[in-house]
Amino acid sequence: MPVTYLKGVGPMRAEALGRLGIRTARDLLFHVPHRYEDASTVRPISSLEPGMDATIVGRVISKGIIPTRRGLRIFQAVVRDESGIIEASWPGQPFLDRVIAKEDTLLLTGTVRFYHGRQLQPREYVNLGTDAAGLAGGRVLSVYPATEGLSFKVIRGIIESQLDSLLPLVREFLPPSLLREMSLVLLPDALRMLHRPASIAEAMRGRTRLAFEELLFVHILQRRANRLAREKRAGTAFTNRRQLTSALKESLPFTLTKSQTGAIREIFADMCSDRKMHRLLQGDVGSGKTIVAVFASLLAMENGYQAAIMAPTELLAEQHFMTASHLLGTIGVEPVLVTGSLTGRARAAAAERMASPAPLLVIGTHALIQQGTEFARLGLVTVDEQHRFGVEHRAALSAKGDSPDVLLMSATPIPRSVALTRFGDLDVSALRERPAGRQPVTTVVRPEKGREKALAFVRRELDTGRQGYVVYPVIEESEKTDLKAATTMHQELSMGVFAGKTVALLHGRIPAAERDSIMRRFRDGAIDVLVATTVIEVGIDVANASVMLIEHPERFGLSQLHQLRGRVGRGAEASYCILLGDYGPDSAERLEIFASTDDGFEIAEADYRIRGYGNMFGEEQSGAPLFKVADLIRDEALNLEARQVAERILDSDPELQLPEHAGIRKVLSARYSRALELFRVG
Ligand code: ADP
Ligand code: MG
Repeated sequence: MPVTYLKGVGPMRAEALGRLGIRTARDLLFHVPHRYEDASTVRPISSLEPGMDATIVGRVISKGIIPTRRGLRIFQAVVRDESGIIEASWPGQPFLDRVIAKEDTLLLTGTVRFYHGRQLQPREYVNLGTDAAGLAGGRVLSVYPATEGLSFKVIRGIIESQLDSLLPLVREFLPPSLLREMSLVLLPDALRMLHRPASIAEAMRGRTRLAFEELLFVHILQRRANRLAREKRAGTAFTNRRQLTSALKESLPFTLTKSQTGAIREIFADMCSDRKMHRLLQGDVGSGKTIVAVFASLLAMENGYQAAIMAPTELLAEQHFMTASHLLGTIGVEPVLVTGSLTGRARAAAAERMASPAPLLVIGTHALIQQGTEFARLGLVTVDEQHRFGVEHRAALSAKGDSPDVLLMSATPIPRSVALTRFGDLDVSALRERPAGRQPVTTVVRPEKGREKALAFVRRELDTGRQGYVVYPVIEESEKTDLKAATTMHQELSMGVFAGKTVALLHGRIPAAERDSIMRRFRDGAIDVLVATTVIEVGIDVANASVMLIEHPERFGLSQLHQLRGRVGRGAEASYCILLGDYGPDSAERLEIFASTDDGFEIAEADYRIRGYGNMFGEEQSGAPLFKVADLIRDEALNLEARQVAERILDSDPELQLPEHAGIRKVLSARYSRALELFRVG
């Protein structure tokens, strides 16, 4: 039923509710509080003392609006209970005079201060009217996500007035045995507990029920997708022949790290089974993912297949090509590079080699998946910086061959519990350590008044022949914020402290071809400093770049800062990352975490805890967030249980056809459009 049919919801409110994603009565019921104000312990007024945070219930004995000299209008009410009286004061809220009447009983919660005697400044009030019975014991107040023109109190009022008529319409759909096993409350009870809890603990019980449901659904979908993705391969499994791979191992100029060896082992096991591989290789910048992909490619090749590595930019593709050519030259393997800027003849030569069924390693950009590029016998596809490609790109590449194995690589570390849920349809390998000999980047936090010194430090690095980056959160200055911007600072710096150096500007509004050429000149040492926005995040390995200065660091997420920092420290020299600026204590705490560790997984976990899932993946996630209630860090244990339950359900009933799963099936298909492609629902 559309919300417009509900009492108290006119066109204006319906429009505002729509902005919160609330269109039906059902949406309204599932619009759950994001926090609670605990007003369940009521104190006698006589016991209040300045500095306390307290809840009281009392009758209004007098009230009025008091103007102040500075034009502020304050609503005040004097409230009495059996023990005494106190003045309550609401600065700037004169309209309350129309809402609160003499003789009304109010529940007030707020802080007590001393102002001509004790005074309460309510954060929250509930007007119990003249009929105060039943609520005198206090209550827990729900605080809802709100939007412009629709305060949480109005939302609370709407929900409060509809709850009793809506709840009886809610049906439980999880099997009773599961609810018992997990000690979960019934859905209608859970919703009541969330909206109108008797205590915080009760609200949490309701929350757990909804969180479990969300997690269970996501795991069911992921597991199902996982099974479909790993359907038996038409061809045969690869065999570990130890020809090319052993040759490479012997000729490597370094020894593999333990994580690298482990990841290669896991990948080989996948490739040698008769199911399709669908694996994510996670590892910090510089952890050495490329070499792992090269080993996997060689396994495909020694089995007579072709392998492809796809990178998001020409520059990265070229870099992989050079690395691979260099490593493989000694064992007589010659890779092919395929990018959009290949000229006619080179393109024809590459196409010819790809069309012949001989083993081959092809490295390229998404030119690899364009029309006209055909592989004769593609056995493995590796996608580097996988988050930069859409699902459709990856699908197009795996459609090229005869159901090739798929290896995805990502330099954005994700906490394990998050990876399990977000990438439940993938197996995950992680590179947790850095290759030996790599020095951690020295990271320091400097206040604005240290600007000159910080810039002078960068200048000295440049003077020794190194290169550097200066990073800004925005391209241009604007009236709305007083953020320093790349464009203006590029001018200022190149004429000021970096005078005499070659300083280039790099940001997302510069055409891609030009950006590429700037990065190329930086790589070749023709540019000393890049003044840039986050476009350099996924960039290139310039070992000579040893210093990065980031302005307004508080404007970046921790994981993003970590990605940025990964651009330096790629060589054997000591390198530095300087965070410059003045900001509040919250940001300072966050940035201290960042400065104190070099471990991407640790940083990702902190980032996740601080910013939440939605923000962390905001840029790549389209549509509604995956979870409204569940929190992957806080609900880690629940998440693991939900995963096990999902496995058990699908093991016993892969198509969700048993009668006890009918409810799950129905709700799943109503809530998640993805369910439609995964199950034959209807
Ligand atoms: P990323 O994981 O960021 O893609 P790369 O694969 O580009 O990292 O590797 C970064 C650099 O480290 C490359 O120059 C690579 O040759 C080197 N490297 C990889 N593995 C090792 C190792 N085990 N020991 C020393 N150097 C290594
Ligand atoms: Mg890489």
